[in-house]
Amino acid sequence: MNRDIKQLVKELTLEEKAGLCSGLDFWHLKGVERLGIPSIMVTDGPHGLRKQKQGADHLGLFDSVPATCFPSAAGMASSWNRELLRKVGQALGEECQAEDVAVLLGPGANIKRSPLCGRNFEYFSEDPYLSSEMAASHIQGVQSQGVGTSLKHFAANNQEHRRMSTDAIIDERTLREIYLASFEGAVKQAQPWTVMCSYNKVNGEFASENRYLLSDILKEEWGFEGFVVSDWGAVNERDAALAGGLELEMPASCGIGEKKVIEAVQSGSLSMEKLDAAVERILRIIFKAVDGKKENAAYDREAHHQLARETARESMVLLKNEDGILPLKKQGTIAVIGELATRPRYQGGGSSHINPTRLENIVDEIRASAGPEATVTYAQGYYRDNDDLDEALVEEAKQAAAEADVIVLFAGLPDRYESEGYDRIHLQIPLNQQRLIEAVAAANPNLVVCLSNGAPVEMPWLDKAKGLLEAYLGGQALGGAIADLLFGDANPSGKLAETFPKKLSDNPSYLFFPGEGDRVEYREGIFVGYRYYDTKQVEPLFPFGFGLSYTTFEYSNLTVSAERIKDTDSLTVSVDVRNTGAVAGKEVVQLYVRDVESSVQRPDKELKGFHKVELQPGQQKTVVFTLDKRAFAYYNVELADWLVETGAFDILIGKSSRDIVLSAKVWVDSTVELPFRVHRNTTVGDLLGNPAIAPLAKELLAKASEGSPFAAADTDGEAAEMMAAMMRYMPLRALSNFSGGAFTEDALQAMIRQLNDALIRS
Ligand code: BGC
Repeated sequence: MNRDIKQLVKELTLEEKAGLCSGLDFWHLKGVERLGIPSIMVTDGPHGLRKQKQGADHLGLFDSVPATCFPSAAGMASSWNRELLRKVGQALGEECQAEDVAVLLGPGANIKRSPLCGRNFEYFSEDPYLSSEMAASHIQGVQSQGVGTSLKHFAANNQEHRRMSTDAIIDERTLREIYLASFEGAVKQAQPWTVMCSYNKVNGEFASENRYLLSDILKEEWGFEGFVVSDWGAVNERDAALAGGLELEMPASCGIGEKKVIEAVQSGSLSMEKLDAAVERILRIIFKAVDGKKENAAYDREAHHQLARETARESMVLLKNEDGILPLKKQGTIAVIGELATRPRYQGGGSSHINPTRLENIVDEIRASAGPEATVTYAQGYYRDNDDLDEALVEEAKQAAAEADVIVLFAGLPDRYESEGYDRIHLQIPLNQQRLIEAVAAANPNLVVCLSNGAPVEMPWLDKAKGLLEAYLGGQALGGAIADLLFGDANPSGKLAETFPKKLSDNPSYLFFPGEGDRVEYREGIFVGYRYYDTKQVEPLFPFGFGLSYTTFEYSNLTVSAERIKDTDSLTVSVDVRNTGAVAGKEVVQLYVRDVESSVQRPDKELKGFHKVELQPGQQKTVVFTLDKRAFAYYNVELADWLVETGAFDILIGKSSRDIVLSAKVWVDSTVELPFRVHRNTTVGDLLGNPAIAPLAKELLAKASEGSPFAAADTDGEAAEMMAAMMRYMPLRALSNFSGGAFTEDALQAMIRQLNDALIRS
């Protein structure tokens, strides 16, 4: 329906405007009845709906209405399946419609800087491209149902430790290339209705009042059209937040926020235009929700449960399969060991914790899939709720293992180890589980370990297991999905969206995480995740992009549309992929770009494209990628823009970041000239490196060094080579020092003028 929002704003009183910018209660925005502005509801997210009827909290304490619990983002990202994420988003949107929820608070696009972050399970990846693609698909899915999303937590909320007060100190290039890029792609592609600011400070200013982030970048540069909502309780000073670009404060501040806004407008420190603009943005979304509302909406619980199972299957990653221990045969005796099999950990703790419509029991699902010819036994093995070692439980498990043909042992992280609100301090699974793995493996080496966790763990026990399935936090249908994968009723197709390091101290943020006091410096810079491991050549336990299948894929015929392009052109890359095994499967084809030579630090390679393809045995498909400037560019701080440095780039097709199977080269010419001006401290090397003035510079330098020792640079032989190398870093002013008075200050100035004139003319 067409409404005159500007007219509505005119009719609102100052108090009503301030009121609209502050929540009504924990989950509702205010309405203005006399003007027909309704109060709408927002609710967590991201992997299921958390609508609370009584007892509101943002810590996962009080219960919520039943809703489908999909795998958490860490798992979903491992599917690398945009279409699947869209389907999950649609299902979430349908559930919101059925429950009269206007905005779902998610997805989270924060980068996994450290595996320790307690909330990593809610985030997608260590890679900004993968993360933003997953977030965009999720948003498109939800919003296709006339329901909004809240892309969160903007920005640099990469730890839970002191999350409400810590100051993330991040250099501009790192911020742009890693931490903001993850949001940027999602905002530009999918226009989330709202963006949620984070609790922390970024470079000295609270995200909630950070004009640079909320106004300059998000709205001006990226064209975000919706409104910014605070994370629950993230507002420091309400008037400063509004001035900085935060439209809505949540939850209700019981009048405190409104009062500050009203006083600021009255005193003139906040302009009425600013407040009006904020109200306009909020009203546009409120009415979008009104227009999108589907009356009497309902959803099909069974269909959503099946979608949760399909999603879980694609979210799980097969990490090890020695001797082809998997898929399991549907015969003989299978011992299922570990309390996580009967009391699964299928979602994370905190504000995203939901009340599932149903929860599958893993042992029951394994029994159902195993069929009548197999015997499935069960032993508890350890206590899920504490770390105590119970020798009797271990003995019982050993017995079950000894009597079985194969063992599937369920291990992982309990909630007390990882959750919203706090970070881990190590990467170990509980010792009682580690001890159990060793004891069981000693009794029977045919051991498959299945992990439930939201983020990487160290695996000193890995060589004891022949098979390893990373199930992440698989949602309410995890049991069926695990059974499908274990028996080969489905073929694993997940790939890691994050690196599993061998040990915590290998992680690039190790020395700087979680910071000192309220200050955390991101000193590893752009070298996050595989960007570090691959560049520094640190061997990971499992690399980014890695995951096994029950079939094999072969790649061939990599072609690029041109050998040389301008940075304003796009490049088409295609590659053939064939299923060379005996069963159907899905492969994630990954495209990385490497800048072969660069004057700035660049990672060994960066992910710039991926496609997931389904292939029947023997089937071949051609996968096509389109790369544009951003695929080759880095963020140049001086230019305040993305810049491609002219030169050669490798196009790498890989099965993971460490398993590159094909590569091609392309030369990219930059159409942007970096501002270059000659001054007295310009070095000889920089002058000679600038093609526009190099010939003139050479001539002038030769003249300037006449009679000086540097003239030797013009002769041949080793001395000349050494001299040229030494002169490379010599500032022009030094020519006078070494000329014995022959090269005067006036001559220096004249030379600088001449070179700058030549630059302008070029
Ligand atoms: C979390 C957000 C969540 C909000 C509302 C906060 O504590 O950081 O992710 O959306 O609470 O529950």
